[in-house]
Amino acid sequence: MNQYDVAIIGSGPGGYVAAIRCAQLGMKTAIVEKYSTLGGTCLNVGCIPSKALLDSSHHYEDAVKHFEEHGIDIPGEVKVNIKQMISRKQGVVDQTTKGIQFLMDKNKIDVYEGLGSFKDATHINVDKDGKEETIEAKHTIIATGSKPSSLPFIKIDKERIITSTEALELKEVPKHMIVIGGGVIGLELGQVYKRLGAEVTVIEYMDRIIPGMDGGLSKELTRSLKKQKMKFNLSHKVKSVERVGDEVVVKADDKKGKEVTFTGDYCLVSVGRRPYTDGLNAEAAGVKLDDRGRVEVNDHLQTNVSNIYAIGDVVRGAMLAHKAEEEGTMVAELLAGQKPHINYNLIPGVVYTWPEVAAVGKTEEELKEAGVEYKVGQFPMRALGRARASMDIDGFVKILADKATDEVLGVHMIGARCADLITEGVTAMEFRASAEDIARMSHAHPTYAEAVKEAALAATDDRAVHI
Ligand SMILES: Cc1cc2nc3c(=O)[nH]c(=O)nc-3n(C[C@H](O)[C@H](O)[C@H](O)COP(=O)(O)OP(=O)(O)OC[C@H]3O[C@@H](n4cnc5c(N)ncnc54)[C@H](O)[C@@H]3O)c2cc1C
Repeated sequence: MNQYDVAIIGSGPGGYVAAIRCAQLGMKTAIVEKYSTLGGTCLNVGCIPSKALLDSSHHYEDAVKHFEEHGIDIPGEVKVNIKQMISRKQGVVDQTTKGIQFLMDKNKIDVYEGLGSFKDATHINVDKDGKEETIEAKHTIIATGSKPSSLPFIKIDKERIITSTEALELKEVPKHMIVIGGGVIGLELGQVYKRLGAEVTVIEYMDRIIPGMDGGLSKELTRSLKKQKMKFNLSHKVKSVERVGDEVVVKADDKKGKEVTFTGDYCLVSVGRRPYTDGLNAEAAGVKLDDRGRVEVNDHLQTNVSNIYAIGDVVRGAMLAHKAEEEGTMVAELLAGQKPHINYNLIPGVVYTWPEVAAVGKTEEELKEAGVEYKVGQFPMRALGRARASMDIDGFVKILADKATDEVLGVHMIGARCADLITEGVTAMEFRASAEDIARMSHAHPTYAEAVKEAALAATDDRAVHI
């Protein structure tokens, strides 16, 4: 029987990063993955393929709507070739997942393909199509991730009533896609198909989209997506989803309790994700799950069984690839006797619609609730020369700083390239910068990043320059 210092179950961004860090720190490491490709949700059916389609559809939209204004004439009609678009996306996925296999080989990590399940706290059974093998591990890291969740009355048929996984593989552009859930995944994939020509109707239970993010971002994103002709039905409670031939009929109650019916040819159910422990046999190792099906962990990501840890989507906290990665690194370093730490307040959240939305730290709503006295500096993208040069003028950067100390408490932004810009906010907050610290840093001109400086100037002394 092969023996390891560490075995990791699941090869998503949590699992594979944990494996690499364990190997770097000199531990004999194995990783178990039930699918034939590594990389988990993120690389196969999540972050990477969705961004590939967002990019392709963005190019198409630019060609159709904006090239002419830029002085670029295209003779003939610009058309979507969905087969090629999906195939390019798959090429990106294949290349990226192979890259993880390369990294496993480079770091001398043994990869086991098959379903991993606990026999007891130190033995894991790997089952590939009935062929079984057992490995022994001093420590195990559970990194089994998550799967799309649904509502109890919805039957996902994977053809017309679909999750994000199928939405990344469609063979045609829907005529009318109904999106249930106005969170990150629904909006990103909704925007892909909107750009490709579908009518897109979003139905959201809450009274705003991207709930959980700062209210100002939610308002601005709604405004911008409405301008792009996406339709929103907020405060609507979906109560039935039925397939009728090639159509899907969705019934919901609006705010006043009145029934509203929506008919489309596809319905994307994007109401969140659930932690995934099916087949893991956690009970054989004595590992406890919480009431929401997540593996219960302490501040060190250790389960109730001292040699078993858990990370990523399968434990509490934001379901984000970079959060899973940080946790993978943390557990590896803990096992090596180091004293790592994650500041969960500084895990940024991003929505890759266009305009992009990104945030780190506390929202205004959270500061109000906590009774913290704060000041706000906000700067609109449209006041930037860089934004006007690219005709990407929607959005703003908002910096929240402590009223007394000027320490930055939150950075919230919407606009072009915010997914990348937010790192400035994370860096500043990691070093506990004041708004004035950011305001005094030189920002290259012309860049979108100048909006961060201007918002910091506005927060410092209400002294933004370009507005
Ligand atoms: C459409 C979409 C877009 C997304 N976009 C982003 C984004 O832009 N940015 C971002 O930060 N996050 C994004 N996410 C979320 C991100 O994908 C997850 O947060 C991330 O993948 C979680 O990583 P993980 O390692 O915890 O688990 P996962 O990536 O889910 O990986 C878990 C792995 O474990 C394997 N596994 C499970 N059980 C077993 C078992 N018993 N034996 C063997 N293997 C097992 C699974 O097959 C899987 O490969 C997106 C998700 C979706 C669906």
